[in-house]
Amino acid sequence: MRIATVLHQGRRRVGRVDGDAVELFACDGARGALELIDSATLPDVEQRVALAAVRLLAPLPAPRRNLWCVGRNYHAHAKELKDSVFKDHKPEGWPIVFTKVPETVVGPGDTVRLPGAAISAQIDYEAELAIVIGKAGRNIARGEALSHVWGWTIVNDVTARDVQMRHSQWDLGKSFDTFCPMGPWIVTADELDGTDTRVRCWVNGELRQDARTTDLIYDIPTLIETCSRGITLLPGDVIATGTPAGVGMGLNPPRWLQQGDVVRIEIDGIGTLENRFAEEGRA
Ligand code: MG
Repeated sequence: MRIATVLHQGRRRVGRVDGDAVELFACDGARGALELIDSATLPDVEQRVALAAVRLLAPLPAPRRNLWCVGRNYHAHAKELKDSVFKDHKPEGWPIVFTKVPETVVGPGDTVRLPGAAISAQIDYEAELAIVIGKAGRNIARGEALSHVWGWTIVNDVTARDVQMRHSQWDLGKSFDTFCPMGPWIVTADELDGTDTRVRCWVNGELRQDARTTDLIYDIPTLIETCSRGITLLPGDVIATGTPAGVGMGLNPPRWLQQGDVVRIEIDGIGTLENRFAEEGRA
């Protein structure tokens, strides 16, 4: 199933996308897909409407807590930033994990706000497959990890590189308002094997990132095992699995996102997430 959170006639609803229609469930849609993740049974369908008649929102418009994110998880990306972001990182068999605050989340088509040069002039994109946890668990073993996955979605782990580099912890440079586009929906785990799919990203139509999740340094079971060591993962938790090579900082010279740029991410089996970048107060 493709589970979407939508705005329909001024109300936030959760529904199942079926071709060019969406079947709205008879449940409270305020928390988006979290309502279904928390519920043992699927609600009844209340109404079927055209997809064109709703506005897609982030499937988890207000995650209950910070999003887990993994840094340096594709070999080619580790290499492209080895002299900048990763220069002090000594790989010791453990992934880099940081978080983004839940208020960063915006939906498909929403504008990502460039903060202005006084705050950061080095805004970068990161196309990522995101895991949505369905079943709570602590100390989850690798072999059990995929049974905790409810579904998969796309996130853009937007980053202020200068701020990320300035602080040894990355959360500030990763958590500006609007810096986590998510969507267009969650594809449930029974319909997609996220461990082997293709992630691509275009900036203004130019292909910048193209990799498969089979290229991950730390695979998806390892990420779930790692994030749940001593910490209970909760239903609705999101783990962004890291970005492939081809980010703006990795280009020579680096190319930062500018007013009016459009970033489009596509993951096979999920769909497309597109967002425009603009300074506050500018169209
Ligand atoms: Mg990232």
